[in-house]
Amino acid sequence: MADFNAQPLERLINNFQKLPGVGRKGATRMAYQVLSMDKAEAEEFANAIMAVHSQIHRCPVCQNFTEKEVCRICDSASRDKSVICIVESPRDITTFEKTREYKGTYHVLHGLISPLDGIGVDQLTVKELLARLSDDTVKEVIMATNPTVEGEATAMYLSRLIKPMDIKVTRLAYGLPVGSSLEFADEVTLFRALKGRTEI
Ligand SMILES: [Zn+2]
Repeated sequence: MADFNAQPLERLINNFQKLPGVGRKGATRMAYQVLSMDKAEAEEFANAIMAVHSQIHRCPVCQNFTEKEVCRICDSASRDKSVICIVESPRDITTFEKTREYKGTYHVLHGLISPLDGIGVDQLTVKELLARLSDDTVKEVIMATNPTVEGEATAMYLSRLIKPMDIKVTRLAYGLPVGSSLEFADEVTLFRALKGRTEI
């Protein structure tokens, strides 16, 4: 099959196939779509891909992705800096923000502790988190990692580190299905999980 395509087209198909949920068929359709674009459109497409790499970095405070020096949430005077909600990925922040109820700040771990995948504490942003907790501003840390084995293990590990610092550690009240992902929780469920959080 591959032999019928011109080499540059094949290259583009291979790249599209790296995206989540895109198989050979879908990637081929996308590649042909790109081929049918005019030059300006194709340039905009390519530049958009490059821009996410060159313009976006991690917020030095919460580790979320941002194009500003410090992200919009950390920079906002109306956010409660005494509460930090700990999440696995930047996508989880989007989910929380949709509830419009949470007024605290976040900390993105960029992963979960997972010995089977060789991911330990050093690969996560735990050092940056502990630095944030060292100046008495933070009164509560909400563990909002997903209710999976890795999510629970990470929450327990962090709570053991944080509790001796005299900071309240809470966990979302999971009406969220065990083994599921925050990403797929609807806003009402997440709002309830946040309201009903319990100390751990
Ligand atoms: Zn931030």
